[in-house]
Amino acid sequence: MLPKYKRILLKLSGESLMGDKSFGFDTGVINQYAQDIKAVTELGVQVAIVIGGGNIYRGMNEAETGIERAHGDYMGMLATVINGMALQAGLEKIGVYTRLQSAIKMEQIAEPYIRRRAIRHVEKGRVVIFGAGTGNPYFTTDTAGSLRAIEIKADVIMKGTRVDGIYSADPEKDPNATKYGKITYQECITQKLNVMDMTAFTLCMENNLPIVVFDMNKPGNLLRVVTGEKVGTLVKA
Ligand code: UDP
Repeated sequence: MLPKYKRILLKLSGESLMGDKSFGFDTGVINQYAQDIKAVTELGVQVAIVIGGGNIYRGMNEAETGIERAHGDYMGMLATVINGMALQAGLEKIGVYTRLQSAIKMEQIAEPYIRRRAIRHVEKGRVVIFGAGTGNPYFTTDTAGSLRAIEIKADVIMKGTRVDGIYSADPEKDPNATKYGKITYQECITQKLNVMDMTAFTLCMENNLPIVVFDMNKPGNLLRVVTGEKVGTLVKA
């Protein structure tokens, strides 16, 4: 099996780590992700990961929490580090070498984010997990994913979610919704399809970084996408 991509940036949402739980993460999901990631590294694919934090904390609900936005956003960034450490543990347990790099310094548990060092790690076959998003409030981990993907010159950003691609409408509400196999950036904008937030999406479009949206919770799907099977939706120019 020949991989279609040499270097990938996998964006995992915090929420998808929950499995059937309503908070935190499910060890079963972490273990499945770890196995799937291991399978693609065994093909020689270089893997970097940005992980979200929405299963633990989102900073955006100032009205609800009474915590001001920027402060809450930093809490959200810390949540992504917890998820990153959980995924790191899951990967190392099955023999995958990893490095966690954080955009907010916390030297006892993670390397600081250093672009050239991250590239070196993936070249050596280590899976690099980027924690703490971009390190800045008012951003999302999707934006962190696009940014890091461009910085390390990944061939693609793969957004692993709980849905199997981009639909013409919300499939849970509209029975006529159809799934796209391929779509252009421009079509996503014209049809107001919510692939990522605008900042993240624009970064991809301006830098010609293809996006794949796929269901990461289906075991084996990551390998299918990496080997070019028609899984999920591919967004490009
Ligand atoms: N966050 C932030 N800056 C970043 C990335 C994340 O402030 O660069 C905060 C923000 O509050 C966000 C939370 O961290 O709500 C968790 O990230 P996100 O919601 O993107 O996670 P996901 O939706 O992927 O679980």
